[in-house]
Amino acid sequence: MPRLIDPDRWPLALAAYTFAGAILGALLPTLQTTAARIGIRPGLGAFACINLFMPLVAVAVAFAYPRFWTAWLGAILMTAALILARLCIANPNPLTWTLPFLAKSIHPILVIAWLGYAIVGTGTVAVASNWRRVDRPDPARYCECGYPLYALTRPRCPECGTILDARRVVQSPPPDRTISKS
Ligand SMILES: [Zn+2]
Repeated sequence: MPRLIDPDRWPLALAAYTFAGAILGALLPTLQTTAARIGIRPGLGAFACINLFMPLVAVAVAFAYPRFWTAWLGAILMTAALILARLCIANPNPLTWTLPFLAKSIHPILVIAWLGYAIVGTGTVAVASNWRRVDRPDPARYCECGYPLYALTRPRCPECGTILDARRVVQSPPPDRTISKS
């Protein structure tokens, strides 16, 4: 049976996308100077950030919280946070940002990169659904914490200690074989 992820954790997933984008955006100049220092083109630092680290975050968060809508919104938030962090570092006063400054600072590839992250996230969600699913435990079969009620001898959950309705325990059907995958 796939592991169930609490649906209420979506703000955490979106925060993770945003935070990672901001961190990578803030690190971008460092990545570029590091690339230059170790003798490779500074552009490769940015390349690694956009084409390696950002997709890795898209995969990691989509695996942790496998939902399509968060994968798409997360891709947008992550890219926007990266752009904003870069802009803030280049010029900390947003009131003085001019159109030429924005055009110069926002690499055109970022405008379409978010779509790539969304697609990578979508693929991850599809694959991750084999092991992880965002859903609440079926109350007829499981305690709220996810422990199976079937085969319990007392109306108390050994996992979380919740006192359960005795009828609920007695009437609980065996774990659903149709969704069992492991
Ligand atoms: Zn429980």
